[in-house]
Amino acid sequence: MLIHHGVRGSIPCSNFETTKYGGNTPCIEIITDKIQIIFDCGSGFSKVKFAEKIPTIIFLSHFHHDHIQGLPFNEFNVKNSKPIFLTNGVYKNNILKDILSKYLSPPYFPIDFIKENNVIKFIDFDEIASMYKEFNFDKIILNHPGKASGYSMSIENKKFCYLLDNEFDASQERELIQFCKDSHSIIWDGMYTEIELEEKKGWGHSSIEQGINFGQKANSKNLIISHHSPSRSDEQLDRIKFKYSGTNLLIASENERMKING
Ligand SMILES: [Zn+2]
Ligand SMILES: [Zn+2]
Repeated sequence: MLIHHGVRGSIPCSNFETTKYGGNTPCIEIITDKIQIIFDCGSGFSKVKFAEKIPTIIFLSHFHHDHIQGLPFNEFNVKNSKPIFLTNGVYKNNILKDILSKYLSPPYFPIDFIKENNVIKFIDFDEIASMYKEFNFDKIILNHPGKASGYSMSIENKKFCYLLDNEFDASQERELIQFCKDSHSIIWDGMYTEIELEEKKGWGHSSIEQGINFGQKANSKNLIISHHSPSRSDEQLDRIKFKYSGTNLLIASENERMKING
């Protein structure tokens, strides 16, 4: 099962125009009977229920607020001695811990969250990849200010790619297509439309149209648009969905569940 806990980019938004698709910032869960994977800890992360009997691994794309602000607002079950692994494709575990400790301690946060939490276990990406070889975890550096990590994984021969946040550039096309080739689903940073992108060069995000084009080249079964602009209304998203109905484009909607097996 793939669950969208947060599909909004940059800042959580709660207003009459975003109730349908949701206002929480990025968090996606993939859960099977063997593993629970979380991509990013935006405000949607507060709704994730940790699995008790299978490993849980959090993959952080990067450290912009919208991807980590939900981390301290999940009820980490301290009764459960199971560690929650947390990793990043760019930084080693000690640096990852330092960065999050700074953000989640005074004066930016009321308590020293990382120090007080004994459930999160920081771990290097390579170690996680070798611990759980059957899922073929892979990473790629994306084009984003301060760098972001894209990830891929396989479940029963179905490949899932997570590419938030990325400002698509022709120079990365060949490598990125190779990374995503023949995926079941690509989760794409569709913050802007092609027209909006003209004004937003350098902000680190792609367009919906670029995603459609890329998904075709990579031969992906599904192209899931997420990281919606906070100014994108439900009505606009409905219109985009209608425009591309009959294609493989899906518009991520908060709390939506997608079956991934069968
Ligand atoms: Zn973002
Ligand atoms: Zn970002």
